[in-house]
Amino acid sequence: MKIVRNKSEYHKQTAERMEKHFVVPQWSVRQKLALAGRILGIEGHDSGLAGQLSARAERPGTYYMLRFGLGLEEASPDNLLLVDDDLNVLEGDGMPNPSNRFHLWIYRAKPQVRSIMHTHPPHVSALSMVGVPLAAAHMDTSLFHDDCAWLPEWPGTPIGDEEGRLISEAIGDKRAILLAHHGQLAACVTIEEAAVLSIFIERAAKLQLMAMSAGTIKAVDPTLAKEAHDYRLKERAIGATFYYYARRTLRYDPDVALFEPVAAATANTQRQQMTSG
Ligand SMILES: [Zn+2]
Repeated sequence: MKIVRNKSEYHKQTAERMEKHFVVPQWSVRQKLALAGRILGIEGHDSGLAGQLSARAERPGTYYMLRFGLGLEEASPDNLLLVDDDLNVLEGDGMPNPSNRFHLWIYRAKPQVRSIMHTHPPHVSALSMVGVPLAAAHMDTSLFHDDCAWLPEWPGTPIGDEEGRLISEAIGDKRAILLAHHGQLAACVTIEEAAVLSIFIERAAKLQLMAMSAGTIKAVDPTLAKEAHDYRLKERAIGATFYYYARRTLRYDPDVALFEPVAAATANTQRQQMTSG
């Protein structure tokens, strides 16, 4: 029997099956943010103490952030800081990274954004020194098709308001941005999405550097790239991808008990992020 259907039917069928089968644990916002730190640490995003991860907390105008002085993989649900919209600490010991100030500018400019991750992984950092934007020309990196901005000039150490203004304006309506001579940033509607984009932008930069050393990068068809972008960014797909990296990280983590899910597994990560602490 020869079966031929319109591709849209397969997209619909896949979405329905993901809805049913892609169930993920329910972690609290603190657990998910700390888990993202450990995942990115394991994935090679550390650069000493550089980089910051944050997420909106339950009360408007408050945010969870990593404590400055800890490495990414040292993040725990109980050592995150709760800060206000001027980086004053409301809960927890220590100080936030002063560069978290540019996160606040992005949160103010993009009310739908609930998590921001900024890191300096090696391939992103190398690409950021060449002076070219990210080229999303591979199926696995279609997440960034028309969705990665480019800040071509380095504004210097980003602890002031001017850098916050520059970065928040440069990212515009995109989810990600490549920052010249600096690193990457993902500003997303969920912690899971920000973490997955951070993992994949490093992969995209690595592939781009390899491709540039081998020849000229051939652009992909924009219509197909848009289709792949939307497919990869389905909430269920992002949730399942985050869960895969979480399992990979926690398998070797002595603190695995800190990441015991707070409720039964569900496929709906976004609703959970909106409601639980
Ligand atoms: Zn940085």
